[in-house]
Amino acid sequence: MKPLKIAVIPGDGIGIEVMDEALKVIEVLKTLDPNLQIENTVFPWNSEYYLTHGEMMPKDGLTTLQQYDAILFGAIGDKRVPDEVTIWELIMPIRKQFQQYVNFRPVKSLPGIASPLSRRKNIDFVIYRENAEGEYSNSGGRMFNGEQRELAVQNTVMTRTGIESLVRAACEYAVEHSKTKITSATKSNVIFHSMKLWDEHTSAIVNNEYPQLSLESYYIDALVAYFVERPESFEVVVASNLFGDILSDLGSALVGGLGLSPSANINPEGQYPSMFEPVHGSAPDIAGKGIANPIAQIWSLALMLDHLGRKDLAKIIVDSIVLVLQKGDVKTADIGGTSSTKQMGEAICEQMKKLVSNGMERSH
Ligand code: NAD
Ligand code: MN
Repeated sequence: MKPLKIAVIPGDGIGIEVMDEALKVIEVLKTLDPNLQIENTVFPWNSEYYLTHGEMMPKDGLTTLQQYDAILFGAIGDKRVPDEVTIWELIMPIRKQFQQYVNFRPVKSLPGIASPLSRRKNIDFVIYRENAEGEYSNSGGRMFNGEQRELAVQNTVMTRTGIESLVRAACEYAVEHSKTKITSATKSNVIFHSMKLWDEHTSAIVNNEYPQLSLESYYIDALVAYFVERPESFEVVVASNLFGDILSDLGSALVGGLGLSPSANINPEGQYPSMFEPVHGSAPDIAGKGIANPIAQIWSLALMLDHLGRKDLAKIIVDSIVLVLQKGDVKTADIGGTSSTKQMGEAICEQMKKLVSNGMERSH
């Protein structure tokens, strides 16, 4: 098998701490499968790099990344650098240049995790968020014609191709995973230029190309309430960039918080590398304390392996996370325990080794 070339960008704050644990998981995978070759290169592109070099990554950074099969990202954000610099000069260029127009986020109940929002135990849906256009465009600006007339405009950009590609990717996932229903988030009653285009092409794709799937469409304000009231009723949710961002954080809160929530920025055509990262940021409030939960990062690594065709390895990781949570003796502070980042990382690594050696015994 050809080696998997992975670009690793730990970033800032807890990004660095949780990435250390994901790198340990990669080392365990190599011992479990001697044929597995993963070449990971770590790139120190973060706020510290910006303060030294005046840029978040070198001029040829994207060309360098393009040579990799995938990017494993931690998190960025540092109070010495404005957030719009870290985001628009590192994450956004990667998402846009590599046409990662699908943001994929699984939302799944986990054993032993109490959610402040929901007592439901059978939540299991995924969110397909449009990731390249929509409300998150840098088109617009501020005008100043005297204090009373100060004005800001930020344009929403939606394209037929953008909507169709996202919805198609979600439908493909639904069919592959035997799902029956697509839920669309909209607000076309008020935001009628862009959101009507969204509605029209979403329903055209689902109804014309995937007759086996049904489509329901809700206004975003109602949908957030349904997420809380009956989260178990959703299967595959499609949403614009802004709506999908908000729904994802809510989805994460429904199943126990940011420390457990992975995400994937996917280029479905596979022409460019996709990027896998936790939903959370650099968490400056707990950075440096060694208490961040590494599960979101390690699960993001599993999403990456799944995307690269190694579903078997992804499954070992996710099963191990579930088993560690089920046992419940190792828990970080965000999920009600006192374990450190390292203890959680090590518990998952040990569980992976056990799973594989038990599996081997059984197969003999
Ligand atoms: P955040 O996700 O960093 O933190 C929100 C809260 O969740 C904090 O209380 C934090 O301690 C907690 N938390 C997050 N991850 C955790 C983990 N793994 N384990 C335990 N607790 C965890 O969001 P924020 O505070 O709004 O932003 C902080 C910085 O991160 C900002 O600079 C922001 O721009 C940046 N950010 C970056 C990304 C990214 O890199 N993709 C995403 C979101 C925010
Ligand atoms: Mn977000």
